[in-house]
Amino acid sequence: MKYYSTNRQAPVATLEEAVVKGLAADKGLFMPETIKPLPQEFYDTIETLSFQEIAYRVADAFFGEDVPAETLKQIVYDTLNFDVPLVHVKDCIYSLELFHGPTLAFKDVGGRFMARLLGYFIRKEGKRQVNVLVATSGDTGSAVANGFLGVEGIHVYVLYPKGKVSEIQEKQFTTLGQNITALEVEGTFDDCQALVKSAFMDKDLNEHLQLTSANSINVARFLPQAFYYFYAYAQLKKAGKADNAVICVPSGNFGNITAGLFGKKMGLPVKRFIAANNKNDIFYQYLQTGQYSPRPSVATIANAMDVGDPSNFARVLDLYGASHAAISAGITGAAYTDEQIRETVKKTYEDTHYLLDPHGACGYRALEEGLQPGETGVFLETAHPAKFLDTVEGIIGDKVEIPAKLQAFMKGEKKSLPMTKEFADFKKYLLSL
Ligand SMILES: *Cc1c(COP(=O)(O)O)cnc(C)c1O
Repeated sequence: MKYYSTNRQAPVATLEEAVVKGLAADKGLFMPETIKPLPQEFYDTIETLSFQEIAYRVADAFFGEDVPAETLKQIVYDTLNFDVPLVHVKDCIYSLELFHGPTLAFKDVGGRFMARLLGYFIRKEGKRQVNVLVATSGDTGSAVANGFLGVEGIHVYVLYPKGKVSEIQEKQFTTLGQNITALEVEGTFDDCQALVKSAFMDKDLNEHLQLTSANSINVARFLPQAFYYFYAYAQLKKAGKADNAVICVPSGNFGNITAGLFGKKMGLPVKRFIAANNKNDIFYQYLQTGQYSPRPSVATIANAMDVGDPSNFARVLDLYGASHAAISAGITGAAYTDEQIRETVKKTYEDTHYLLDPHGACGYRALEEGLQPGETGVFLETAHPAKFLDTVEGIIGDKVEIPAKLQAFMKGEKKSLPMTKEFADFKKYLLSL
C-alpha cells in the first residue's frame, strides 16, 4: 500500500517510509491510498470473533500488503494482550473501556503496535539503531515508553516538562530503564516539543543518528486505533443493540476519532460520530461556522484534550473531500467547561456508581444530551480515572482505588537526566551518544 500526503506536494511513500518518517516532506499527514471495505460476511459473524481476531482482519486490510501474514498476526496479538470491554452505564449508554492496557490509557494500543511494527522493519533490514524522540505532557510518554520497552534496535528518549506532569504519569516513563531514557526539561511542554522539532531538522544530528517520532500523526500509531471500534460494534451486536449505533469520542488531536471514521469507510455500521471537546472547542466551532480557526490551547482538567490546532483535522478534511456539509453530516460536536465536566463526573458517580475520568465525562455527557430515540450510544473511556487521582477524588469527595498496575509503577525509582530548554545542550547530549 502506498501512502500519500494530505498536502499532496510530496512523493507517495511505502508503509515503512511513512512509519519511519512520521510526517511527509511537505509537512502533510500520510494517508493510505485505499481504504478497503471489509466483506459483509465479516460483519455478519463479527460477534462470534475475539478482539484479536477482529483486529487482525482490520490490520490485514491496512497492512496486509506490506507485512507477512504471520508477522502481522503476531504483532496484533502481542499488542492486544488486554481486553477492551464494553460496559453498560445507564439507559442506552455504554462505555468502551480503553484503559486496561499497561499504562491505563487508549494510547497503549497505538504505542504498542507502532513499537512492534518498527521493530520488525529494523530486524528485516538490519538497520542501525533507531532513536525515537517523544515530547509529552503526560499520557503519550508513558504509552510510547512502555510500548517500546525492551524492543531491540530502538532507543526512546522521552522529553517532559519538569514539575508539570503528575507523579503517577512521571513514574510511568522514568522508572523503566533498559532502552528508555527520560529527559526532564527545565521548561514547558512547548519547549519539549520545540527541542524535538529542532532535532528532526538538524543536519548534523540526522547524519549522526537515525531519528524518528512516535506522536499520533504516525500512521502506525493512528490506524490501529480502528481495531477497537469494530470490537465495540461486535459487543453491541452481541447485546442486541447494534442498530443505530452512535460513537462519541473525547477528542484533542483527533487521532482517535479519525481511526473510527476510517472504520466507517470500511463498512462498519455506525450511524454517526460525536466529537466531544473541552473548552478547546476548535472543532466544535468549525462544525457551527464552517471556519477552522486554531488558537492557543487553554488548560483544563481534561488535559489530554488541551489542543488548539488538532493535527488530524487535515485527515478529517481529506476523508470528506474538505466538505463542511459532509463532515457535519457524519460528525456532530459538543464542548464542555471544567465546571460541566466536574458536574458530570459527580452526578454519574452518584446516580450509577460508574466513575468517569474527566475525558470520558465529556463523551458521556455528549451522549446523555445528544442521543435520539432508538439510538444506542458508546463513549470511549480513554483513560482510567485513577490517572487523574487528585482531580477525581476532589470531585467525588471519596477515595479512588488505584489499580495494581499503577501501584507497581509508583514503587519504581525515578531516573531522569536534567536538560535545559536550549537546543544546543540537547544536541550536544544526542551527539555524545
Ligand atoms: C490523548 C488523549 C485524548 C485525545 O485523543 P486524540 O486522539 O488526541 O483526539 C483523550 N483522552 C485521553 C485520556 C488521552 O490520553
